[in-house]
Amino acid sequence: MLIVPEREIAPLMTRAAAFDAVEKVFAAMAAGDAYNFPVVREALGHEEALYGFKSGFDRAGLTLGLKAGGYWPHNLQARGLINHQSTVFLFDPDTGRPTAMVGGNLLTALRTAAASSVSIRHLAREDAKVLGMIGAGHQAGFQLRAALEQRDFNKVIGWNLHPEMLPRLAEIASEAGLPFEAVGLDRMREADVIISITSSFAAILGADQVSPGTHIACMGTDTRGKQELDPRLLARAAVFTDDVAQSVTIGEAQHAVGQGLIAEADLTELGAVINATHPGRTSGDQITLFDGTGVGLQDLAVAAAVVELAVAKGVAIEVDI
Ligand code: NAD
Repeated sequence: MLIVPEREIAPLMTRAAAFDAVEKVFAAMAAGDAYNFPVVREALGHEEALYGFKSGFDRAGLTLGLKAGGYWPHNLQARGLINHQSTVFLFDPDTGRPTAMVGGNLLTALRTAAASSVSIRHLAREDAKVLGMIGAGHQAGFQLRAALEQRDFNKVIGWNLHPEMLPRLAEIASEAGLPFEAVGLDRMREADVIISITSSFAAILGADQVSPGTHIACMGTDTRGKQELDPRLLARAAVFTDDVAQSVTIGEAQHAVGQGLIAEADLTELGAVINATHPGRTSGDQITLFDGTGVGLQDLAVAAAVVELAVAKGVAIEVDI
């Protein structure tokens, strides 16, 4: 069995490799070649931690495994560790033997950024110029960097509940040579692409604060009860997702479907657009919306990619188990 420690991931894994891995596995999911197993997520009643497993099997890529981990809210202050902790375990689908154990913290950030980036590649208008960010926490910077590679953006605008966090996004925009402006939510009407990545439990973006033709990647809602968008926005949009079952239970669509504004059958897997079995955006005026809930297969795909890179570079540690 191979071990790829967390400290080796940053020098090995690129945004391009994460993009390719996530795009391929979304395609495999929509083709019926890969499926996610039900998610387990439990409050431990210890350290106020949330712990769980995301797992699945990709028959096309022959990737089988799970990501174990969760959220320990006191890690940073009490121990100087990051609060989100995860590890990916891969298994040989022919024998069930473990093949790899891979640090999952940076990989989670990269695969999440890759998901919104894949949605922009396949659903945003080609002439998109203004990128709107809602949220400015740990994950927002990853989403922004990956998104900027997808279109010829000339400006970034951003809103965050805690505006003092916005300068981090301004720095990333400036590294890419782009101006950044902190704006009120009404100014999101200027955006051609909007990414929401917050831990909100109530709608932030209103249905009338989005212009026709916009692509929205809604990435923060990954748990029952979380919410970032007015559900009427989903009724106005063509809605795509990584996984329909997750979208209607823990994703943004849980609210619009729960209120009867849209039906489960209105949701399309992004992989169908990648596979060209669905046309995706059908007009310049259409609002497209990607509900990115975060699936186990994304974690397995990027972990398998990084194991290959680690073996090629001779930094994977081999152990007997
Ligand atoms: P973080 O704690 O670093 O940042 C949280 C962000 O949400 C900040 O911008 C903060 O200002 C904002 N915020 C907090 N409370 C809010 C509220 N009540 N209303 C509006 N905004 C609020 O977290 P992060 O690591 O950046 O993750 C952000 C969200 O993305 C989390 O909800 C996380 O669970 C989710 N996430 C989703 C995926 C996925 O695959 N879809 C993957 C990773 C993280």
